[in-house]
Amino acid sequence: MPPKKKVAALILKKKDIPKLVRQLTQVLTVYGPVANQSQFKFDTITDGSQLRLDYDTTILPPKKFFIPPTEDMVTFSQSPTLTIHDTLAQSDIESLWNGKRFLVFGVHSCDLAAIKFHDLILTQIYPDPYRTRRREEGIIIGLNCLLPCEDSFCKSAGTLHTTDSADLMLTELDNTYYVDVLTETGRKVVEFCKILFSPASTEQTKLVKKTLTQRNQTFPDPLDSFEEIPSQFDASYEAEMWNRLGRRCFGCGACTMVCPTCFCFDVSDRVELNLKEGARVRKWDSCQLVDFALVAGGHNFRPTIPSRVRFRIYHKFWIEPEQINQIGCVGCGRCTRACPADIDMIELLSDIQKGGN
Ligand code: SF4
Ligand code: SF4
Repeated sequence: MPPKKKVAALILKKKDIPKLVRQLTQVLTVYGPVANQSQFKFDTITDGSQLRLDYDTTILPPKKFFIPPTEDMVTFSQSPTLTIHDTLAQSDIESLWNGKRFLVFGVHSCDLAAIKFHDLILTQIYPDPYRTRRREEGIIIGLNCLLPCEDSFCKSAGTLHTTDSADLMLTELDNTYYVDVLTETGRKVVEFCKILFSPASTEQTKLVKKTLTQRNQTFPDPLDSFEEIPSQFDASYEAEMWNRLGRRCFGCGACTMVCPTCFCFDVSDRVELNLKEGARVRKWDSCQLVDFALVAGGHNFRPTIPSRVRFRIYHKFWIEPEQINQIGCVGCGRCTRACPADIDMIELLSDIQKGGN
């Protein structure tokens, strides 16, 4: 993705959000945070009243719009003659309004950082044309967090300030949102709904800076020297902590399913009962599941739970920094919230920093 610079700063009144959503849904599929019992999830938005921009975090990250949990890669049909369709058909991304593009509304900074992380690793190390196509079709409206969410450590992970990967970035100011226009695509969105936006005043720009500075001071910072964890990994590789964690972990894979930076998938074929149609399908997989490293002949490279728990952390904090010079964790805290064994990522990383014993 090309680097961005701020194009403009505007103001959007909160009361105009439903009008904005109404206009956008005429030409785009719009996703955003909605209530899901006592939690929140990203879902399709058809009416602005569904949007919950006061959400703390979502069960699954917006990753699901760029790498769907299941995706047909190739479909085939044999009626009357064999036809094979590669779902990677190109779309015209120059036009915002071609019916294929989608917009994700209200993405927090940690999730923006995870999208940026995927932009790097899924182009430079594991090129993924399916994800790249969806990324090109997606438009992102980011939202600055003003309150920390439970279990997160975004300030320690250095992702609290991230606006990377957003086309527009919103910051709440009383009855309005301050809108940073960050890309040409963002400018086109504003242009499409221009009646709803007005230029930000100097006072509003000063106020947003003050708000974000105060926010930065109040967010928790539970992990010192987060960026040094990769260099501490060697010392803890054989540590007792992995056996301790292995005795608690159920190997369920929930931590990886909710993680915005995990991207592993499996590929299988689906043939319909009529034996004339089918698809090659990819679906999310997890390094925490017992058969993830099982190969032909029955050998399993990571047959035990401690070896799989250690691999997850090793991959994020040692292998990925070696590959793209970035830790594969943005501090969202979702793995901690999802874990039925109460394995806490902050405690786990603190244990690594102490040598793992
Ligand atoms: S490892 Fe946990 S805290 Fe880090 S990005 Fe993944 S889910 Fe979030
Ligand atoms: S969610 Fe918890 S119990 Fe399940 S695999 Fe991850 S660490 Fe283990």
